This record gives sequence, C-alpha cells and structure tokens, in this order.
Amino acid sequence: MKRLASLPGALLLLWMGGAVQPAEAAVKVVTSTEDLAALTREVGGDHVKVDAIGRGYQDPHFVEAKPSFILKLHAADLLVLVGRDLEIGWLPPLIQQSRNSKVQVGAPGYLDASLSARILQIPTGQVTRAMGDVHPLGNPHYWLDPENGRRIARAIAQKLAQSDPAHADYFGARYADFDKRLSVAERRWDALMAPYRGLKVVTFHNSWPNFAERFGLNVVGHVEPRPGIPPTPGHTLELIRQMKRENVKIVLVEPYFDLRTPKAIGRETGARVLVMLPSVGGEKEVKDYFQLFDYDLNLLVSAIKETGAK
Ligand SMILES: [Zn+2]
Repeated sequence: MKRLASLPGALLLLWMGGAVQPAEAAVKVVTSTEDLAALTREVGGDHVKVDAIGRGYQDPHFVEAKPSFILKLHAADLLVLVGRDLEIGWLPPLIQQSRNSKVQVGAPGYLDASLSARILQIPTGQVTRAMGDVHPLGNPHYWLDPENGRRIARAIAQKLAQSDPAHADYFGARYADFDKRLSVAERRWDALMAPYRGLKVVTFHNSWPNFAERFGLNVVGHVEPRPGIPPTPGHTLELIRQMKRENVKIVLVEPYFDLRTPKAIGRETGARVLVMLPSVGGEKEVKDYFQLFDYDLNLLVSAIKETGAK
C-alpha cells in the first residue's frame, strides 16, 4: 500500500524532470549585437537562450559596458561577436572580467562571425586606430548583406551543434529552413531594388558597403571624413559640392548620429535625409533579420520615388 502510494510522486518527478529539461539544456549564448542574437535565434530555436549586449539603436563601435553583462558572460556557453575590431573598445574587458574560460579568445565557446563572412575594404598597407579609423581590419558592418547573414547563421548552427551534440540535427534543420526563407526574401528584395541599380547615395558612417554592393547602390561619400571621426566644416563643404556635381539626392544616417550636419547638407543639396537601420532592434518593430531588410529597403524605395532620385 505504501509503495503504491509513492508511485504517483515518482511519476510526477519524472514528468517534471522531462518538462524542465529543455530550459536547462538550452545553450546559453551571449552576442555582441542584436543582429547576431537574431541569427542565433533563427538557428537555435527552443534550444538556445540568447542575450545581446549592444542594442540595435546604439553605435556598435561604442557600447556602454554594463556590469550586468559580465554576469551574463560568466554563465555563457557561447559568445558570438562581429569581430574585425568592431567591439575592440568595449568587449575585451567584459570577456576578461567574466572569468569564464569557455568564452575567452580562441576558446571553443568564442565565435568570431567575421571569419565566416565575406569582408570588404580590407586595407592594404598599414592602418592603425591611431589614425582615428575605426575600420582597421576591413569593414565590420558586413552583416548587411543577406549572403553574409546566411554564412553567419551556418557558422552559429555548427557551433551550437558542437556545444549541444544531442540537438545537432535540430540546429541543422533550423539552418536549412532559415536558408530557404532567406532565399525567398532575397528574391523579393532584389525585385524591389532592381529599378534603382547604380543609385548614388551618401552615408553618414561607412556602414553600408556590403548592403550597397548587394542591392546595387553606389556610395559616393560619407558625412564622416573617416570612420569614427565627426564631420568637419571643410569636409562637409567638399561633400556638398560633390553631391551637387553628381546630383546625389539621398543621405543615409544611422540612428545614433546627430542629424544637424546631414540636415544642413540636405538643405544645401535638396537631398532627402533618411534614418536607415544598420541593425535589428534599431526600431521597435524591427525584431528579426528579415524585418531589418524589409524596413530599410521599403524606406529607401519610398524616398527614391519621392525625390525622383536616379
Ligand atoms: Zn563602423
């Protein structure tokens, strides 16, 4: 009688164990940006728990390193970062202070996404940060080409499979599904941009070379004299002259820059100033990697139509 009475209790424990297992088994991932978090969620599904350090509306070169992130990193199985020195100003101390051997540079839980991506503008000859250029190892905004998104997602899926081999097939299937959905979306985006190939634009920061190459834009100048260096009157005047000469009617500004100089340039040249999002989370409604391109391309095409830019 006593043994029978204890049976439901044992079953309950078994059932509870089964129910809580997925949460416990989830791979704990910390990413430096919301884009990498979004791609991790695409391939990781229910078997990952993801936290992003930088927010999509912040300049990824200059993120404020809050102590709470050290705790997140301390508990992480995997750290995914953009690399190419994008996070050099703020991520290394967090990694060090996390005292987590899994996510130290070169450890199995340290994934530099740039190693799987196609990188543009790799400098020839010596470039140092002492010159003020925050892109010394090539352009670090490479996630803005969907093909690089695909490559990053594949690298993350492989890393998750190593970290949690029992769900390797699950991560593989999630990647295959993401790849398929991305191909469908790319056809939509290409069709949207096809009439505007070669369109000249100016951008505030040099965030868009991969995006421009993929969607046929021609970036002819930047509001910053060099990446990371604020606008100067001399450079701004030269840019205005160039835009008038080349009839440039679109200026793209990342959401974390002051709009005063771009607006002055707009007044002088008649160009439209557009706040384009380089990252997921740049606006509340942009919650995943697909919504990022939908948002930016729709904004751009509406502006092109309104200005009659060519
Ligand atoms: Zn940059």
